[in-house]
Amino acid sequence: MSQTDPFRATRALFDLPDGLVYLDGNSLGALPKAVGARVSQVISDEWGRSLIGAWNSAGWVDLPRRVGDRVGRLIGAPAGSVTMGDTLSIKVYQALASALELRPDRRVILSDTGNFPTDLYMAQGLIASLGRGHELRVVEPEAVEAAIDESVAAVMLTQVDYRTGRLHDMVALTEKTHAAGALAIWDLAHSAGALPVDVAGAGADFAVGCTYKYLNGGPGAPAFIYVAKPLADTVRPALSGWFGHDAPFAFEPSYRPASGVERMRVGTPPILALAALDAALDVWEGIDMEAVRARSIQLGELFIREVRAHVPDLELASPVDPSKRGSQVSFRHPEGYAVMQALIAEGVIGDYRAPDIMRFGFTPLYLGEDEVRSGAAILADILTTGRWDTPAFRRRNKVT
Ligand SMILES: *Cc1c(COP(=O)(O)O)cnc(C)c1O
Repeated sequence: MSQTDPFRATRALFDLPDGLVYLDGNSLGALPKAVGARVSQVISDEWGRSLIGAWNSAGWVDLPRRVGDRVGRLIGAPAGSVTMGDTLSIKVYQALASALELRPDRRVILSDTGNFPTDLYMAQGLIASLGRGHELRVVEPEAVEAAIDESVAAVMLTQVDYRTGRLHDMVALTEKTHAAGALAIWDLAHSAGALPVDVAGAGADFAVGCTYKYLNGGPGAPAFIYVAKPLADTVRPALSGWFGHDAPFAFEPSYRPASGVERMRVGTPPILALAALDAALDVWEGIDMEAVRARSIQLGELFIREVRAHVPDLELASPVDPSKRGSQVSFRHPEGYAVMQALIAEGVIGDYRAPDIMRFGFTPLYLGEDEVRSGAAILADILTTGRWDTPAFRRRNKVT
C-alpha cells in the first residue's frame, strides 16, 4: 500500500490472514480485530455475571435501536428510523407486506431480474399467503422505469445488482414510483458500507439490508430495516411479535404496535450477534463515505485495467462506467466456477454466481492497490496457462 493511502489506519483494524487477497468482502466482510474481545466480554461479563439482569443493566433491550442508529448514519437515515434483527429475507417480507397494505386497491409488485432471488421468493410467498391476486412483475433492470405505472403498489428493487454490480438510480426511480402513487422499497444489501446512500434524501419508503457484507458484522449478522418517518407510525407490521409491541412486558393478550420503526422488531434480539456488529461498526467512525466511494472506484478501475492488459478477451459483466456500478467488478467466463476455484487455491478469494459470473468485491477499509494488482495478475495467469482446467476445480461445493 502506498504512503498516501488514507485507509492504512483502517486496514490495521482488521484481522486478515497474511498473503491472502480477499476480494469477497461484498459477500462476507472481513473480521474487525475488536469483535472477538467485545463478544467474549459480553459473554463472560454480561451474560456470565449479570445473567438476566443484563437486559437492563447492560442495555441489551435497546441494542437493536442503538445499533440501528449507527447503521442509519451510513445510509442517510435519521436517528430512530432504523432497527435491527432477523435476516434480510424477513425484513424484505415485512417491508413488502406493510407496503401492500398501504395500497389496497393495487395488485402489482414491480421488481427486476437483477434482484437477489430471496427477495423475489419472499414476495412470491407473501402473495400466496395473502391470496388476494397480487402479481410479481419482474422486468429487465433497464425496463423498470418504464414499467412503473398506476397498477403498481410497490416497487421493490436492490440498488446494486448482486451479479453485475449495476447500480440503480435510487433518487430518480423513487421519484417515478411516487409520481405513480406507489411505494418504494430499496434493498441496500450491496450498498450499505459500499457507497454513499441517502435513504431519507431519496424519499425511500422502506429500506432493508444485511450487515455481514460491507458492514463486517459476521456470518448471519442481523439485518436492518428503515421505515420513513411519517409511515413508521402508521404501517401495520405483518409479523406482530412481542418485541414490536408497544409494551412487551405488559404481557397484554392483544397486539398493539410500538411507535415508529420499533414495531418492525419481532422476537428476542440476538444479543451476541448485535454485540459483534456493534464492535464491527467502530471501524466506520469518522469515515467519509465519499472517500470510500472514490477509493472503491479507483481499486475497481485498477483491477479491470490490469486484467484487461493481460486477458483482453475476458468479458466484463459490470458496467464500464464506474459511476454506474457498486463496489464490485464481475467478469463472465463459461467455466467461471472452476476458474474461481483455481484462484481461491492460489489465495485470491472472490466468488462465483451461476451461470457464469466471477465476482470481485472492493472494500477500501482493508484492501490496497498491491493486493488488487496481485489478484489481477494471478487471475490473468490462471486464464493464460489454463491451469483452472482440472476435475478438482470443477467439483462443486454447496456454497459457491
Ligand atoms: C445477500 C442478500 C440477501 C441475503 O438475505 P439473507 O436473508 O440475509 O440470507 C438478500 N437480498 C439481497 C439483495 C442480498 O444481496
